[in-house]
Amino acid sequence: MYSIAIDGPAGAGKSTIAKLVAKKLGYIYVDTGSMYRAMALACIREEVSSGDEENVVRICDDLSITISYEDDKQQVFLNGENVNAYIRTEEVGNMTSAISVYGPVREKLVNLQRQMASKADVIMDGRDIGTCVLVDANLKIYLTASSRTRAMRRYEEYRASGKECNLEEIEKDIIERDYRDMHREISPLTKADDAVLVDSSDMSVDEVVDKIIELAEKYFIKKN
Ligand code: C5P
Repeated sequence: MYSIAIDGPAGAGKSTIAKLVAKKLGYIYVDTGSMYRAMALACIREEVSSGDEENVVRICDDLSITISYEDDKQQVFLNGENVNAYIRTEEVGNMTSAISVYGPVREKLVNLQRQMASKADVIMDGRDIGTCVLVDANLKIYLTASSRTRAMRRYEEYRASGKECNLEEIEKDIIERDYRDMHREISPLTKADDAVLVDSSDMSVDEVVDKIIELAEKYFIKKN
């Protein structure tokens, strides 16, 4: 099995890029953030505070997260309910980053992610893929961009889907979330030593996709 790991801060374009690369290579795209988001949604629904480690861990221990694919699109199920429509909000994003600091929360999902990579060729994105989940990935990318660029992208996504939003607030949230993700004790977001750094601030989506395919060809894919 082949695997490509893409890590990086919020809004760097990981999922957009990973989806396109997956399609070109015929790999399965695994969005690990959405698994953590589904757990955070469960905590929000149970009205538990993110600082209440004991109850967060209990809720996450008791629930089931499963993944399926419909038309190549990943669907996340929380206790059998498809929650894709509810997990892409700032509220869930912030809760996710706050609860994903807990070891037992991570362990459960890391196991699921490794299982998926053992069964299919995958391109997996997240925060700890190259440093923890798939340390032997065939190619590791650390995708980043300036916080302003990333906030601008999120802002435009939200506007396009008709959501009210404020650019300054989004940038503030992004900076806070990155700080927490980079400074947590367990599996902090950091570039793996053997990851290739790609700064997408001044690159188009196609340029980033081409760059990754080029690297995959250089590292492990044999051209016909
Ligand atoms: O990538 P996304 O924005 O959906 O991730 C939401 C949050 O989930 C991140 O800010 C991070 O705290 C957490 N996460 C993580 N490890 C991963 C993927 C996401 O800790 N592999």
